[in-house]
Amino acid sequence: MAKILCVLYPDPVTGYPPRYARDAIPVIERYPNGQTTPTPTGALGFKPGELVGCVSGELGLRPYLEAHGHELIVTSDKEGVDSVFDRHLVDADVVISQPFWPAYLTAERIAGAKKLKLALTAGIGSDHVDLKAAAEHGVTVAEVTFSNSISVSEHVVMTALALVRNYLPSHQIADNGGWNIADCVSRSYDIEGMHFGTLGAGRIGLAVLRRMQPFDVKLHYYDPHRLAPEIEQTLGLRFHETPESLVAVCDIVNVQTPLYPSTEGFIDDSFLAQFKRGAYLVNTARGALADRDAIVRALESGQLAGYGGDVWYPQPAPLDHPWRRMPHQGMTPHISGTSLSGQARYAAGTLEILQNFFEGRPIRPEYLIVDGGQLAGTGAVSYKLS
Ligand code: NDP
Repeated sequence: MAKILCVLYPDPVTGYPPRYARDAIPVIERYPNGQTTPTPTGALGFKPGELVGCVSGELGLRPYLEAHGHELIVTSDKEGVDSVFDRHLVDADVVISQPFWPAYLTAERIAGAKKLKLALTAGIGSDHVDLKAAAEHGVTVAEVTFSNSISVSEHVVMTALALVRNYLPSHQIADNGGWNIADCVSRSYDIEGMHFGTLGAGRIGLAVLRRMQPFDVKLHYYDPHRLAPEIEQTLGLRFHETPESLVAVCDIVNVQTPLYPSTEGFIDDSFLAQFKRGAYLVNTARGALADRDAIVRALESGQLAGYGGDVWYPQPAPLDHPWRRMPHQGMTPHISGTSLSGQARYAAGTLEILQNFFEGRPIRPEYLIVDGGQLAGTGAVSYKLS
C-alpha cells in the first residue's frame, strides 16, 4: 500500500460543488503536435467539466487509489513545519502538487521524505520541485505535458487584448454606473499593425503566435532553437538572435521562457529599459522570471503601458504583493492552466501516470522530467538542473 499526498488549491468560498455554467466540454483527442490527450484505463473518477482541481475534487483520484488499497491524503495546507503537507511528507510515497498552488519540494524537504519515489505535477511546470535534489534522491518527477498549454495560450491572447484595449478599467467604469467614454479610451488602442513577440516559442509560445496571426500583427520570436522554416514562413515570423533584439522592436511582448536558476529575475530594470516605451508585457510563464519591483517601476514611469499574466512569486501572493495594486495591470491568480477544460486533461493525465507507476508500466516519455537520477523525456529537452 502506498501513501499519496496530494496538495490542491482550496475549494470555492461559495461552496463545492458549484452549479456549472455549461453541461459539457468539447472532447479533445490530440494536441497540435499529434500527441494524444491522456489515456488512463478504466473509468475516470469524475465527469469532464467538473471542478476537480481543488481539495474536494481530489482530481477524481480516490476511486482508483482506494480500489487498489492505497491511502490518499488531500490538503491545501502546505506552508510551515506544522502544515498537513509537512506532517505527511515524511512517509509519503507519492506527492502530487500543482503550479497553481505549489507545494514547494525543496532539497531539504526531499531529503526528509525518505519514502518519496514520485513527485507528480498535476499540470505543467515542475520548477516548484528541486529537480537536482530529486535526481540525487532517485525521485521520479513527472508532469502532464501539453495538458493545459492551449488553455494558457488563450489566456495570453486575452490578456494582450485586455491591456491594449484598456478593457479592465473600462469594464470597471461600466460596473460602477459610469459612462465616461473619454476615460475609457484615453489608453485604448487597436492591436492591428502592432509588433507582437514571444520570448520562448515552445508549446505555449508557438500556440500564442498561431492565435495572434489573424489579428494582422507582425510576429516575432526569440528561442534558443529556431523553428522549422515552414512554420516561420506560414506565420510570417521574424526570428531574433537575442531577447534584447526582440524587445527593442515589439509593442507587445509575451514571456514563455521556462524558469531555471539561470533565467530567474532576467526581466530587470536594465532589460526593461531596452523595451519600446509604452510596450505591453504578458507573463504566464513564471513570476520569478521578473524582478518584482522593476515591473512596478516600469509601469509607474510609463516605460511599460501594461503588464498582465497569472504567475507570481511566491504563490499564493501575499496580500501586500505590489502586483495586486500597481497601475495598468491585468493580473489574475494563477488560473490560466486550470480552466475546467484544462483540469479534465491534467486530472486524466495524473491518473494515467499513477496507473503506469503502480501497475509497472513505463510512464510516457513526454510526461517524464526526472527519472533514474537524471533529466529524462521532456525533462531532458525542456529543463535544466542549473
Ligand atoms: P516548452 O518547453 O514547450 O517551451 C519553452 C520554450 O522556451 C522552448 O522552446 C525552449 O527552447 C525555450 N527556452 C529555453 N530557454 C529559454 C530562454 N532562456 N529564453 C527564451 N526561451 C527559452 O514549454 P511550454 O511552452 O509548455 O511552457 C513554457 C512555460 O510556461 C513553462 O516553463 C511554464 O513555466 C509555463 N507554464 C505556465 C502555465 C500557467 O498555468 N501559467 C501552465 C504551463 C506552463 P528549447 O527547448 O528549444 O531550448
